[in-house]
Amino acid sequence: MTEASRSGLVVMKFGGTSMGSADRIRASAALCAGEAGKRPVVTVVSAMSKVTDLLLDTLRHAEGGDRDGMESNIATLAQRHRETCEELLPENAREAVLAGIDELVSEFRRIANGVHMLGERPARSVDEAVAIGERLSALLMASYLQSRDFPAAAVNAREVIVTDAVFGNATPLMGLTREKAAAALGPLLEKGILPVVTGFNGATADGRATTLGRGGSDFSASILAASLDAAELWIWSDVDGILSADPRLVPGARVLDLVTYAEAAELAYNGAKVLHPRTLAPLVSRRIPVWSKNSFAPEKPGTKIVPAIPDPIGPRAVTSMANVALVSLEPASPELTGTKLMGRAFEALAASGAEVLALTSSSYRQSFCFLVRGDELALALQAVESALSLELAHGYVKPVEVDTEVGLLAIVGEGMRGVTGMAGRIFTAVSREGVNVIAIAQGSSELTIAIVVRREGLEKAVRAVHEECGMGGPP
Ligand code: ASP
Ligand code: MG
Repeated sequence: MTEASRSGLVVMKFGGTSMGSADRIRASAALCAGEAGKRPVVTVVSAMSKVTDLLLDTLRHAEGGDRDGMESNIATLAQRHRETCEELLPENAREAVLAGIDELVSEFRRIANGVHMLGERPARSVDEAVAIGERLSALLMASYLQSRDFPAAAVNAREVIVTDAVFGNATPLMGLTREKAAAALGPLLEKGILPVVTGFNGATADGRATTLGRGGSDFSASILAASLDAAELWIWSDVDGILSADPRLVPGARVLDLVTYAEAAELAYNGAKVLHPRTLAPLVSRRIPVWSKNSFAPEKPGTKIVPAIPDPIGPRAVTSMANVALVSLEPASPELTGTKLMGRAFEALAASGAEVLALTSSSYRQSFCFLVRGDELALALQAVESALSLELAHGYVKPVEVDTEVGLLAIVGEGMRGVTGMAGRIFTAVSREGVNVIAIAQGSSELTIAIVVRREGLEKAVRAVHEECGMGGPP
């Protein structure tokens, strides 16, 4: 790829709501065409809103032998995209695109039929099938741009992003992706053609279809930005940027103008919905800045995510997760130390793939507890209980305790380190509301303070912390 074709290159990613209707596709296309007049642009698109859920649901119907449910979903899929196409494109441009839509829908039906016949959903077939959502939206976006005489081409990321073979949650192989991205997208950019690349999907080096996990189109965009040495990555969604709190819980929440990679990543991992948690990692070594912007209000400045900010100012934002569970373990015999127990439990958890969100321990009782997502609780328990089955049976370990009536609060901000009394102020604010703090975990980076509280006090605690730390800005 030549220097000229990628100097100043910007990768622009549009989420499901930004692709959700003919009007939204028009608006998103105008945003990338406007920028592409000034510098090279690569666009990454999500499936139209709710389409991925629909595709997954269809495969579940197929697996369960419910052919009617499967066919009715496929009809909805075809209709949604055909209608959008008819609304989006002038009559003379429609025929070929409608045929393209039908072909992709047939491809999906073929895979769903296979699932129906087998009575099971092999992970790799699922990945191949769900990518159809993004292929449909890329087709619509590229066709619309072409109909406006703007050179554009839909590109299947299967030809661009190379991943490992962890179907459903694959990780990119960056060296191979770099080569493939240059080979697939370089020639288009050199000819002044805007590539509209499918988000969410990729393929293994030997060509098997993979996906990057739910919400993975953000990650696709950052993988491409890093592979193409982009100058910037813009993530277009339906919110104004990264907020100091969820505005549904905190009416005074505000958009942050500048946050660091580390802050944005902590917020994403702790439940903020604005970015897929893995998005920032590929950008760190190349220091590529990211803009989080609202395609419904593009005139708003949005949030800029940068490697570092000169004078970090303590707590910036608070997030929360309501659907979590606290699991407690305690040895019941002096033969088994807490450390040994922890080692065994975490080895099992790591092998299960369940993620530990927070962890605290007590040296006196040798007990410890950890927090997992509600939807990974069964997986985590199964892993821990089977690894410790003998100890549990013989009473060396007390029965595992689970508390699902808890919530997680995370306060995030560079520069909390060194601010004496910060944690104290936060706890005082939470307890002033009468909310019971169950556990506390502060990472050694001091970037995040995580607090586990009783579930019914979670919202109150979020508002109290937001207020106490002045996150809404100067009064
Ligand atoms: N369409 C995929 C999903 O819904 C990927 C994405 O939207 O980022 O998970
Ligand atoms: Mg998303």
